[in-house]
Amino acid sequence: MESLQDHSCSICLGVFFNPVNTPCDHTFCQPCIVEVQVYKQQVVCPLCRKSIKDVYSLKIDDEREQLIKNTFPKQYQKRQNDIIQQRLLQKQAIKLTLQYGNTHEIISNPKPSRSNPNIMNSHRWKCFLKVIPSQGVPQDYIEKVEFQLHETFQNPLITCHNAPYEYTTSGWGCFPIPIKIYWKISTGISTPTKLVWDLQFESPLQQKTHEIKINKSESNSDNLQIN
Ligand SMILES: [Zn+2]
Ligand SMILES: [Zn+2]
Repeated sequence: MESLQDHSCSICLGVFFNPVNTPCDHTFCQPCIVEVQVYKQQVVCPLCRKSIKDVYSLKIDDEREQLIKNTFPKQYQKRQNDIIQQRLLQKQAIKLTLQYGNTHEIISNPKPSRSNPNIMNSHRWKCFLKVIPSQGVPQDYIEKVEFQLHETFQNPLITCHNAPYEYTTSGWGCFPIPIKIYWKISTGISTPTKLVWDLQFESPLQQKTHEIKINKSESNSDNLQIN
C-alpha cells in the first residue's frame, strides 16, 4: 500500500510532480528544486544540506511519476494545475506606468537670478516622477530617482530616495531635465531607466506617461523592456 506521505515533496508539501532524485538520495518536484536554484547560486538539498551541483541535470523519475499518477490521481491533478497556474503567472509581465512632468506658476515678486543678476527668477516650478498605482503592482519598486537640473543651479543633481519623487525650485529659463530611475534589487533590473523631461512654462501642469514592462520570468535577470 503506497502512502501519500512517502510521495510528498518537502518543499511544496504536495505530491511529487516531475520527481527528481538528488545525489544525496532525496526526492523533490523538479520545479520546486529548480526554484531553489533561481534564488541561490549554490544549491543545497533542503533536507540534508548536501550540495547539489546542477539541479537542471537531475533526471525526472518517470516510473515514480507514473506510480503517483495511478495511485493518487486527484492529488496529482491538483498539483499539475497549480504548476500550470504558477507558470502562467510567472510569464505575465508587470506593467508599470510612470508619470513625469512639471508644474508651473509665475512668482509675483521675483528675486534676481544667482547666475545672472539682470534676469529675474520669475518662474516657480516643480519637476516630478510618480508611479501610477494599479492593482496588484507593489509600490516600492523604486530605489531612488535623480533629476539633473541645469548646470547653473547651485546643486544641480537632485536625488530623491522616497516618494514623492519631486523637486520644487524657481528660475528664469527652460531646459531639458534628465531623469534617472534606479530600481530595487528585488525587481531584477540592474540598469537604471533614463527619461528626459523638457521643462515647460506654458501651463500650470504638463506631464507625460511612460510604460515599463517588468518580465517576472524564470531567468530573474536583466529583463527590462522599454516601449
Ligand atoms: Zn514540490
Ligand atoms: Zn539530501
